[in-house]
Amino acid sequence: MTSRFDASATADLSGRAAMVTGGGSGIGKACARALAAAGTLVHVVDLDADAAKAVAEETGGRAHVVDLADTEALEMLPAEVDVLVNNAGLQHVAPIEDFPPERFALIQQVMVTAPFLLVRRTLPHMYARGWGRIVNLSSVHGLRASPYKSAYVTAKHALEGLSKVTALEGAAHGVTSNCVNPGYVRTPLVEGQIASQAEAHGIPEEKVVSDVMLERSAIKRLIEPEEVAAMALWLCGPHTSHLTGASLPLDGGWSAH
Ligand code: NAD
Repeated sequence: MTSRFDASATADLSGRAAMVTGGGSGIGKACARALAAAGTLVHVVDLDADAAKAVAEETGGRAHVVDLADTEALEMLPAEVDVLVNNAGLQHVAPIEDFPPERFALIQQVMVTAPFLLVRRTLPHMYARGWGRIVNLSSVHGLRASPYKSAYVTAKHALEGLSKVTALEGAAHGVTSNCVNPGYVRTPLVEGQIASQAEAHGIPEEKVVSDVMLERSAIKRLIEPEEVAAMALWLCGPHTSHLTGASLPLDGGWSAH
């Protein structure tokens, strides 16, 4: 019997619409570019107006300048999307006893509550079309902990749970939900962390990359945003309809420990 699958096929997403949160920078920008190249109309959602507009212009998409911590503003975003990439995130590095509670709450709002609300908002359209892809930008910190990152590690572990529940509910409707779990990626978020980690650990910035960030990675280089975007796009392609509720490490072997 001949299989209906062509193992060499690539994603053709023409006629589909995608929404990428935090699409103005780093991994989100790389995802927007990859999804647009595969034929989607990309809705670029970002707090940073200039960045969102620049990426939308470059990819032929639409910019939405929204603060994901503003629950009411999420109602302004399109619900008719076939691919949702929950990517926007922020970091704060401090010991728990000094961690500002309002910063902890903001991180949960942007990285857990907003993804929940956007999944909730977009699933009816995906269910109606019998096809949808939720890609959650988690982290190795969705699977492992590090000191001084209580809010971020908590939020990423919560996102893992949301992704799995979405996978179970969406399966009967042709909707998959997965997490992508990178180690350190060369983006502005990480560049910011190098400085704050240097302060938290009391060591020079160059030592942060070699001795702290890549300490648990067997592969001793930062990941590029395009490598993460390629995995996100693959999850939307023709070979992954059976892949759901999973967490895919892109961490240079970190989680093999
Ligand atoms: P980045 O800082 O380069 O980009 C994040 C984008 O999100 C920015 O454009 C920012 O304006 C936007 N954003 C932040 N708060 C927002 C809000 N309240 N409303 C709307 N937009 C908001 O970050 P990045 O490194 O590309 O990270 C993207 C995602 O990947 C994050 O969820 C991050 O946790 C995850 N991740 C990053 C790395 C890494 O090493 N860079 C590793 C693992 C996981």
